Amino acid sequence: MNSKNIEKGSVVGMSYQLKNDKGEELDRADLTQPFYYLHGFGNIVPGLENALTGLSTGDIKEVAVIPSQGYGDVIPELCMTVERESFPPDVDIQPGMQFSANINGQAVPFTVEDVNNDEVTINGNHPLAGVTLHFRVQILSIRESTAQEQEHGHVHPEGISH
Ligand code: ZN
Repeated sequence: MNSKNIEKGSVVGMSYQLKNDKGEELDRADLTQPFYYLHGFGNIVPGLENALTGLSTGDIKEVAVIPSQGYGDVIPELCMTVERESFPPDVDIQPGMQFSANINGQAVPFTVEDVNNDEVTINGNHPLAGVTLHFRVQILSIRESTAQEQEHGHVHPEGISH
């Protein structure tokens, strides 16, 4: 551990708590199981990544990230109702199921929100689209990335190369 500040190419270990506007917890990484990421490579949402630049080990920061700097705004067109017949008849379609659909040549993950007799409501928005993200972050470690990590654009757990 050193006193280096977070910059592009830093491997950052941190604990965090993520809440929505209502104060409900959405996600967390505890001190005992830190989250590691490679800074400056878009591995985390831009609003959080930008706010962490320059921090050093031990720093605690609260960051509010608006949807456009987080998981994006809700796209109404990605909420749609489709015929039950467009799914394979032998698959039991249930709310919460996820599947991939081809939208303009891109694979978009969709979640089934509701099923009635012959119609299925699906949503292709990220579950956190439209949500302002309230992070409380503590920086636990900072190290320089290896050349291979920078080449791959992600963190390799200690001693592992692939
Ligand atoms: Zn890799």
